[in-house]
Formats: sequence, C-alpha cells, structure tokens
Amino acid sequence: MTTAPAIEVAALEKSYGSTRAVDGISLVVSAGEIFGLLGPNGAGKTTTVEILEGYRRADGGTVRVLGLDPIEGGARLRPQIGVMLQDGGLYPGLRPLEVLRSFAAFYDDPHDPIALLELVGLTEARATIVRRLSGGQQQRLALALALIGRPSLVFLDEPTAGMDPHARVSTWQLVRDLRDAGTTVMLTTHAMDEAEQLCDHVAIVDHGRIVASGTPAELTSRAGVDELLFSAVAGLACNELAAALGVGPGVVTELRPGEYRVAAEATPGLVADLAVWMRDRDVRLGDLRAGQRTLEEVFLRVTGAGTT
Ligand code: ATP
Repeated sequence: MTTAPAIEVAALEKSYGSTRAVDGISLVVSAGEIFGLLGPNGAGKTTTVEILEGYRRADGGTVRVLGLDPIEGGARLRPQIGVMLQDGGLYPGLRPLEVLRSFAAFYDDPHDPIALLELVGLTEARATIVRRLSGGQQQRLALALALIGRPSLVFLDEPTAGMDPHARVSTWQLVRDLRDAGTTVMLTTHAMDEAEQLCDHVAIVDHGRIVASGTPAELTSRAGVDELLFSAVAGLACNELAAALGVGPGVVTELRPGEYRVAAEATPGLVADLAVWMRDRDVRLGDLRAGQRTLEEVFLRVTGAGTT
C-alpha cells in the first residue's frame, strides 16, 4: 500500500519586491519521515515553510500539505499540524504548565500537559515562569507546544538551537520517537550534524532553489568519489606530495591549515603511496577519508560558501 505524501511542493515561487526568496522549489516529503530543509541564511527556508504552514501566500506553483491547500484548506489543516516557533516566550509571565494547559484547550484530543513536560524534560522547570527559563528550556517548551495537539505533521525550526549536548541528544531521540510513532517531521536546521543524525531526507536550498537533495548518506558518499581527504600537520609540501603520488601539481591542496585534499580517485595504490610519503617524513596522520564527505562539507560545497 502506498501512502500519500505528507507534503508536495511543485515549482514554488515567492518574491518580496525584487527579492526572489523562493525561485522554483519542488519537493516531496513522505508521510512518516524526518525531512530536513537546509540552507544558508536568507536561502528561502523560512519563506517556504511559512507557505506550507499557511502563513504566507505563494506567488506561483502548487502546494499540498496533508492533501490540502494550506490557505484554502487552512481550517482543516491547522488542527493536524504542529509548529515550533523560535520565540517560545509567547507568554513570558506564565509557567510552562499553564502555557501548555491553555494551548491544550484548543484541541479535541490534546496530550496531557504534565506527561508532555516530562517528555521534553521540563518537569523540574514546570513552575518557573517562562521569562526565567534558560534558552534551551524555552526551546523545549516551544517543542512541547508544537506537539500538544498530537499533530500528524510537525514543523520544527532549529529545534535544538541553544540546547546543551545532553538536551540535544534527548531531543533527537524524541524526534525519532515521533517519527517512529507515525508523525511526519519537517525541520530546518543550521546544524549539519543534526541533519546527518536525524533526517531521512534532506534538501539543501540556496538562493531560493534546491541545489542538492537525497538521503544524508547519498549526499555524503556521492560527493567525494574522486577524492581523498586527510589531516596532518599544517604546511605540508603539497606539490612535493603530488609528485610522489604521481598526480599533477595542484591536485593536492591544503583546504584549511592541516587539512588536505587529493583530488584523485582514492585507489589502494594512492593511499599506500601517501602512507609511504608520510612514513619517510615521520608525519603523523590525523584523519583519513576516501569517497566520503561530511554533510557540512557537502553543504559548503553546493552552497558555494566554501572554496572546495
Ligand atoms: P535564515 O536561515 O537566516 O532563517 P531563510 O533561509 O529562512 O534564512 P528567508 O527568511 O526565507 O530565508 O529569506 C529569504 C529571502 O527573502 C532573504 O533575502 C530575506 O531577506 C527575504 N525576506 C524574507 N522575509 C521577507 C519580508 N517579509 N520582506 C522582505 N524580504 C524578506
């Protein structure tokens, strides 16, 4: 049995005056997956998500969210979606439990506010007024608010921004649990480790267009078939190494101090020659990667924000 996609976007366009914020985005988010929308500042992510949420009207293209047009079908759609807002302090003078109880009243079958506070790790802070919560606690409250109506689709905007490493890991697990229970999650994030850990599919947006998409594994393995990356002490003689490897000058480059790229297929022979060259100079190897980049490296490459 095939399930209808949770989100379908085709040729989406939106301009603000002469700024083309969204310039022909098409994407499909399957029901029950975690989908990450990534991109540099100003890429058009928020505009896209706000159109999906029904807060903004598109200039062109088609949008279906849970089978509905987000504007025409807004009244039916809103009870089925949850939105995590960056500004969790909507009611700075209330306590988390009070905020959740007042939001719960809008839904037919809301989560139990006390159980939800436990779920997001705010039980101890439930009686602290929102203004006095730490940044990470305010994020968790915003997450709880997004979930209070038991949405089948939830939009998370930088869900772990400002959280400490423990809170991030437990929030990631919570998001996976949501997905495993059948909820579709669309998240925007600047944290590439988060996208790599969490997302089933990602789309990288730049200047209002999708410049790369796929599973994180597809993007990281597809990107680097023709290269070998390694780290060692800074200032290695790149041209000398290139000659020893039998590749042309310029094929070995120092990307950042101590991080090197050999733009050639990482054959066993090439790796062996590199090891021999380093042994002869008593240079210690840090990291060595062949055929794979991190999602952050892919991001920097496809968004043109890096030099590689
Ligand atoms: P960030 O990662 O910084 O949140 P983003 O990818 O969410 O960025 P958007 O907020 O969608 O990007 O902005 C896309 C472009 O549209 C930017 O050039 C931005 O300056 C512009 N823009 C966004 N909202 C408005 C608005 N209300 N009026 C005019 N221009 C806007």
